Amino acid sequence: MAKGIFPVDKFKGIETPFYFYDTDLLKKTLKTVKEQVKKYGYVQHYAIKANANQKILKMIASEGFGADCVSGNEIQAAIEAGFPASKIVFAGVGKTDKEINLALALNIFCFNVESLPELEVINELAGKKGKIAQVALRINPNVDAHTHEYITTGLNENKFGFSLNQIESVIERLQSLKNIQLIGIHFHIGSQIEDIKVFEPLCERVNDLQNSFEKKGIKLGHINVGGGLGIDYENPNANPMPDFQAYFELFHKNLKLREGQILHFELGRSIVAQCGTLITRVVYVKEGEIKEFAIVDAGMTDLIRPALYQAYHKVENISSNLPGKKYDVVGPICESSDVFVKDYELNETHRGDFIALRSAGAYGEIMASHYNCREIPNAYFSDKI
Ligand SMILES: *Cc1c(COP(=O)(O)O)cnc(C)c1O
Repeated sequence: MAKGIFPVDKFKGIETPFYFYDTDLLKKTLKTVKEQVKKYGYVQHYAIKANANQKILKMIASEGFGADCVSGNEIQAAIEAGFPASKIVFAGVGKTDKEINLALALNIFCFNVESLPELEVINELAGKKGKIAQVALRINPNVDAHTHEYITTGLNENKFGFSLNQIESVIERLQSLKNIQLIGIHFHIGSQIEDIKVFEPLCERVNDLQNSFEKKGIKLGHINVGGGLGIDYENPNANPMPDFQAYFELFHKNLKLREGQILHFELGRSIVAQCGTLITRVVYVKEGEIKEFAIVDAGMTDLIRPALYQAYHKVENISSNLPGKKYDVVGPICESSDVFVKDYELNETHRGDFIALRSAGAYGEIMASHYNCREIPNAYFSDKI
């Protein structure tokens, strides 16, 4: 939704800050992904952690996608939104007994297991319930995703998954875990991956691993390559969607699936990021010694990505058509990192103007906190405002 298309008049009666979601763009994105996955018979599990707003989850569930969860409460949010348990996968390095029991009780599709002690606990808890838990081994492929160090997950130094060296002994251990059934292998190498070429070495690693599993006589029903596809934070209007076609085609060309094997994905950000905008009002324009500050009523408690990983969100003054001036756009939180952008050109800005922080649909609303006793921002949708 480009500047000028935001229903600024309708925003006037609404308390800021709030998230505004473009339902048409979300629908279009879901349709595109659905077409691409269908083409190759792939399965897409939406990564709930990117945005767990119930209305968004319901829209995604109703398109037939599965869910990728990283906590028990995410599993519950997914079920509430209508994702069937048979399409839920559960990852995370620290699954608690309570969360594992919930997932077992619901008969989710698969635990993406990240360590040997976790495997033992799932086996034990499944045994107590008289169940066989379906698991995939999350493998750390030691592939560099070339993204921010806080959101790279597939290197040996990261806490996620089994290292390649451990696989052999894990397979051996599996033989004696009677309440575990190995049904797949899982990978997730990082997030906001802009150069999709980094998925090529991942495919190679998967192909090699497949050979070694086969040599051991192990058949894997599915391969799950996680998520991570990046979006264009610089130009949300020009690129409201990443090149899904190229992304899925890359896997089709590079990853050698075995007979009957199904490839699974867990995209989060690329599904929801561009449909969301954080709308905030300018509280004060303050003359500093060397700069001018546009102080807005949204802060790092509403959108933490800039403070947390130096992320960029395009900022627009959607109330002003005046010539441009440079501002630091900052929030009200008592932290020096509570800055959205520095030395940034906005149309001349005044108290009361609406500022749009674009591409905020992923890892935005869901990461909001009560720090400074602030409220969690509300959400509004373009089809119902
Ligand atoms: C976060 C996460 C995803 C989604 O990543 P995106 O970059 O949002 O696509 C997928 N799988 C796992 C295991 C994750 O932790």
